[in-house]
Amino acid sequence: METRACVIHAEKDLRVEAVPLGAPGEGEVLVRVGAGGICGSDLHYYQHGGFGTVRVRQPMVLGHEVAGTIEAVGAGVTALRPGDRVALNPSSPCGHCRFCLAGEQQHCTDMWFWGSAMRFPHSQGAFRERIVIKANRCEPIGEVVSLGEAACCEPLSVALHAVRQAGSIAGKRVLVTGAGPIGALVVAAARQAGAVDVVSTDLQANALEKAAAMGATATISAADGEGLARAEFLADKGWFDVAIECTGAGPVLESILPVVRPRGTIVQVGMGGNTQLPLGTLVGKELSLRGAFRFHEEFATAARLIKERRIDVTPIITGSLPLGEAVRAFEMASDRSRHSKVQILFE
Ligand code: NAD
Ligand code: ZN
Repeated sequence: METRACVIHAEKDLRVEAVPLGAPGEGEVLVRVGAGGICGSDLHYYQHGGFGTVRVRQPMVLGHEVAGTIEAVGAGVTALRPGDRVALNPSSPCGHCRFCLAGEQQHCTDMWFWGSAMRFPHSQGAFRERIVIKANRCEPIGEVVSLGEAACCEPLSVALHAVRQAGSIAGKRVLVTGAGPIGALVVAAARQAGAVDVVSTDLQANALEKAAAMGATATISAADGEGLARAEFLADKGWFDVAIECTGAGPVLESILPVVRPRGTIVQVGMGGNTQLPLGTLVGKELSLRGAFRFHEEFATAARLIKERRIDVTPIITGSLPLGEAVRAFEMASDRSRHSKVQILFE
């Protein structure tokens, strides 16, 4: 059997073509994919054929933010039935390496993460009409939300993990730099975790509107001259308790140090190149600087929050196109001045 998929061959060479499809084996299910969100990494493969040393070296199905409907179940699957609507976890850690055994699956040494050219053969992705997957990677999302909303479980998981890396943020003042899909979802996750002030910054007015819709208590344009360097944020050694960096633009991290209070925490989510930091400030203010990478158990939490609309992700979904128009969808997603999350519809 075959199924139609969205396959990257090289930079700007994205094709909708047939790929093989098996039948669900023991413990597996066959899912009819409904919606899939285009993420920054998918865009990098499309626009540049990869990022850094990671290059597309063989045709690879893109996509890791998907949700769909169970069509058939394999032997031994009792928790899911045909017709169930589910979000699909793109992450498949090995389960027996040192990090998996320690409950730190995001650092698995043998990770298969959908739509990634980090290993060879590449880890094929999920932008396809049908997919066979282990039943335990499916999170039920009920009947209320759309499959497009359910497909936001993956980026919301990243956001929940980032907020978790900040420690307890209940009652705190939080700065979120960057209001792309990740930053906007971090805003929502920070509000959900009880932050009282969540200030969002971005260069794009459109992104700031999304952050406001996701619960930012204030938005600041980083495009105007002052940016973060305002008297109220600088006073008293820094106004924010926590900052979560979601731009990936190196100089942004440096601009955060003066506005976080001594002993505050900075979580770096955005991935970029190298940057310079004034170590004297980091030391003198006893700041904690942490990375946040992917997620593990947060996926189930994200599914619950979306399923019950305790976090409403609809504001960030700015475009949806059918699989046949995948190239147009990728072009739309490339226009960051207009679009946040663009999705492909498979049915
Ligand atoms: P995105 O490109 O849509 O969003 C980045 C936003 O930052 C844009 O809206 C842009 O206008 C804004 N920005 C750029 N420079 C800025 C500046 N100087 N000041 C303020 N805002 C600025 O990307 P995204 O999908 O939201 O992802 C955000 C970052 O998170 C990316 O770097 C991505 O690679 C990274 N990411 C990390 C993980 C992880 O596990 N750590 C997972 C997914 C994405
Ligand atoms: Zn492992």
